[in-house]
Amino acid sequence: MSETAIVNDSDLVQGRTGAWEIVLGLEVHAQIISNSKLFSGAATAFGAEPNTQVSLVDAAFPGMLPVINGYCIEQAVRTGLGLNAQINLRSVFDRKNYFYADLPAGYQISQYLQPIVGKGTIILDLPEGRSREVAITRLHLEQDAGKSLHDQHPKKTYVDLNRSGVALMEIVSEPDMRSSEEAAAYLKKLRSILRYLGTCDGNMDEGSFRCDVNVSVRKPGGELGTRCEIKNVNSIRFVQQAIEHEARRQIELVEDGGKVRQETRLFDAGKGITRPMRSKEHAHDYRYFPDPDLLPLELDAGWVEDIKATLPELPDVKKARFIKAYGLSAYDAGVLVGERETAAFYESVATGRDAKLAANWVISELFGVLNKQNKEIGESPVSAASLGELVDLLADNTLSGRLAKDVFQAMVETGKGAKAIVEEKGLRQVTDTGAIEAAIDKVMAEQVDKVAEYRSGKDKLLGFFVGQVMKSTGGKANPAMLNELLKKKLAG
Ligand code: ADP
Ligand code: MG
Repeated sequence: MSETAIVNDSDLVQGRTGAWEIVLGLEVHAQIISNSKLFSGAATAFGAEPNTQVSLVDAAFPGMLPVINGYCIEQAVRTGLGLNAQINLRSVFDRKNYFYADLPAGYQISQYLQPIVGKGTIILDLPEGRSREVAITRLHLEQDAGKSLHDQHPKKTYVDLNRSGVALMEIVSEPDMRSSEEAAAYLKKLRSILRYLGTCDGNMDEGSFRCDVNVSVRKPGGELGTRCEIKNVNSIRFVQQAIEHEARRQIELVEDGGKVRQETRLFDAGKGITRPMRSKEHAHDYRYFPDPDLLPLELDAGWVEDIKATLPELPDVKKARFIKAYGLSAYDAGVLVGERETAAFYESVATGRDAKLAANWVISELFGVLNKQNKEIGESPVSAASLGELVDLLADNTLSGRLAKDVFQAMVETGKGAKAIVEEKGLRQVTDTGAIEAAIDKVMAEQVDKVAEYRSGKDKLLGFFVGQVMKSTGGKANPAMLNELLKKKLAG
């Protein structure tokens, strides 16, 4: 019998793989937000006409010399600080040599033995408010290569060098993750931190945040197994699928008496499987050596401190503050701080109001609408001020929860403020005892039989009466008052 205890896919997602443990380490290539490239003044804008953003350095003309872009260095340091990482005041640029048509120099300038950023940590926010720490091994700077375009001509490949020389940060994790869920949480958190810092836009569609996934399996607590590296997976969903497929493949292979070969694989998103690209035995020997055109990079400790002083409040600190100041659950706080803009929106709704109520409205109602309309918080059809107004109308009892949902829907559709809609549609809830009592009397007079049944012990009928009275007030009776008055009257 097979030892595999993978019962279903959700076990795999959460790393419940019975006799086997999945081990994952991620390498992320994050494009630095910078107007110009790492070693040249050429522009970096996405989507420009091919080969219009290429300097002589990027095209590797003989004799051209790289000149380091100070802003990119600052961005890498800022990122390292945001990852609670060691900043190395001395780092070295190396040449990583290989031949490829989109690499005119025949080498990529990268950092190898002495990267600019060393060990750091990142805290994963997992479902049910759980969290877990993953260690960052290093962050190094390197240039991007150009792009080979295979789909422009039936027989030819074209080369676009616009991307050649663009600054990348390669961020490498320790093999600390144990499930596809954790890998997804890692990528989300890393992207969130980079966006807070303004050092990478995290846009996976445009390739400015790319991920290589290293996967191995082992008996829990045993030695690390042989890993396969899945290259350039371009969405978080695909990263999860690739891991789940690859882990299953390795477990089945080993259980059938086979051995995992160390190799580079590709994820085929159409089929949801990984397949071999090249084996590590044929891996390049890159012949790294220090780039003779660049001096070692020496940073001033004071300069690093100055950058540190400018860091924004980052997601973990903000989350802790939201939990403490607003009484939110870890889960809600984690959701609200994911994007800096969302957190700011929430704070302006919550300030001076019932903060939990505000959180519910932002998370359940507003996020629901944004998801449906595929919009960012910056494009929200309801402003923070307007949502705040709605929360006020709930707090002062002008609206019941049910009416508030109708008003919210109208706010989304018309862009009008909460108060304006309440006035226009006469949606103010009825809190006048006399009016509610009159409505109750009318219903009781119409339903003499049901009243008798209720009084003879069928108290389940309460819901029926609530519904009738609610209907007769156009849904506007204050629910708590209605309940109380109704019970009193029915009791006789
Ligand atoms: P390479 O250049 O060969 O890809 P790196 O050091 O750049 O090597 O990256 C190695 C990545 O693989 C790291 O993210 C590391 O955590 C991960 N890794 C190393 N060993 C294993 C393993 N046995 N299983 C899963 N991931 C691993
Ligand atoms: Mg690698």
